[in-house]
Amino acid sequence: MLDPADWKAFREQSHQILDQTLDYLQDVRDRATWTAVPKEVRDRLQSPFPIEASDFGEVYREFARDILPYNSGNIHPRFFGWVQGTGTPAGAIAELLAAAMNSNCGGRDHGAIYVERQVIDWFKELFEFPKSACGLLVTGTSMANLIAVLVARTKALGPAVREQGLQAQTQRLVGYASASTHGCVRKAFENAGLGGESLRVLPVDKTHRVDPNAIADAIQHDRAAGLRPFLIIGNAGSVDIGAIDRLDELADLAERERLWLHIDGAFGALTMLSKKLRPALRGIERADSLAFDLHKWLHVPYDAGCVLVRDEELHRSTFSTEGPYITRMDRGLAAGAPWFADFGPDLSRGFRALKVWFAIKQHGAKRLAESIERNCAQARYLQSLIEADPRFELMAPVSLNIVCLRYLATNLDAAQLDRFNDDLVIALQESGAAVTSSTTIAERRAIRVCIVNHRTEDRDFDLLLQTLGELAVQLERGR
Ligand SMILES: *Cc1c(COP(=O)(O)O)cnc(C)c1O
Repeated sequence: MLDPADWKAFREQSHQILDQTLDYLQDVRDRATWTAVPKEVRDRLQSPFPIEASDFGEVYREFARDILPYNSGNIHPRFFGWVQGTGTPAGAIAELLAAAMNSNCGGRDHGAIYVERQVIDWFKELFEFPKSACGLLVTGTSMANLIAVLVARTKALGPAVREQGLQAQTQRLVGYASASTHGCVRKAFENAGLGGESLRVLPVDKTHRVDPNAIADAIQHDRAAGLRPFLIIGNAGSVDIGAIDRLDELADLAERERLWLHIDGAFGALTMLSKKLRPALRGIERADSLAFDLHKWLHVPYDAGCVLVRDEELHRSTFSTEGPYITRMDRGLAAGAPWFADFGPDLSRGFRALKVWFAIKQHGAKRLAESIERNCAQARYLQSLIEADPRFELMAPVSLNIVCLRYLATNLDAAQLDRFNDDLVIALQESGAAVTSSTTIAERRAIRVCIVNHRTEDRDFDLLLQTLGELAVQLERGR
């Protein structure tokens, strides 16, 4: 009923669309990094619910006119905003294949399930987790962190907390993380019913790492006050500057205090692929749970992240449910227990694993590691350009792939200089030449350049600083 009436015509249209899509990707460097959505396009995207059918080709032409040109820019070689992966053409094809299969990966016994198990096994191997550990592909690290906090909560309170909720608790659970920790960890505490205040935020040193002794002191203090410490969260690549906590020491502390150790390795954990970079992550293999993204430094198309949990039973007891409509059988399609739905909040789940499987098989650990190492080398290259250029100031140490800088406009007070650098970032984005984001480092606004981009070449950083310099002069004149 909803299939093409004329397969031959549909096939021709689809081949054309595929060709145009590949052209679009091949020529990405020739276009603006980002283009704001014009008013007439925004207006067209506010039409009433369509009642009548439209020709597929007509709908595609609307897409090509009103949607495709206004992507967020992260496929472009000069996109350095936030921490966003580039994606790959093969990743787009893998998405097409997964959509054609349209598998529901909540569970049961079919090919897609074995692919997800395979990629999770690969990650267990990469992070030196035991074979008995388990994992789940999720939307991203925000969800992976939430799942980890919920499993840690089960460890502390037992699965009965699912029935009784936190209202039955007399003792408040508290967790510990550094000030460099991503905001989604606090959100996970909120969503887990623990309350954002239950996440103790500890200061960081000049390298943006937390002092494990400071956590130990906070634990003693909280215990003395009648609270119940249960979780330490470490960073393997902090969102602000890419700092890596002393993971081995955090693991020692968690062991000594019998607390859960969770590591947020959204992008930084992937440096495990590189022989050169992985020593900095020592201790990650001791975590009780680990969250990381595949849509960042693995360049899998959005969205894809993963959570690994050392204790499978604990993980399952946090989420598994039953119902007559999802009875597990020994044979047939309803076999294959435990189902992935038993390890997270979703029952129906897409075939995210296929694009991950393609990326890892196609590129292999070696090429993926080279791409990551190249981004880190590019960060050092940009650092050297900034240090040699009196117009700019480096705002934070470069640990991995993130460079924070600012333009030193003259005759401005601190607040005006903050505003100036924020305006400069906006002007850069609007110019289409490149995209960076902004952040605050030591209470001052900074231009943040995150290099998670396999298309970037060194010359793109020359152009970035040149453009920032020119736009800054225009901004200064305009004042
Ligand atoms: C990106 C990021 C997150 C959030 O991950 P999403 O995939 O956007 O949900 C969490 N922590 C760190 C360190 C990150 O870089």
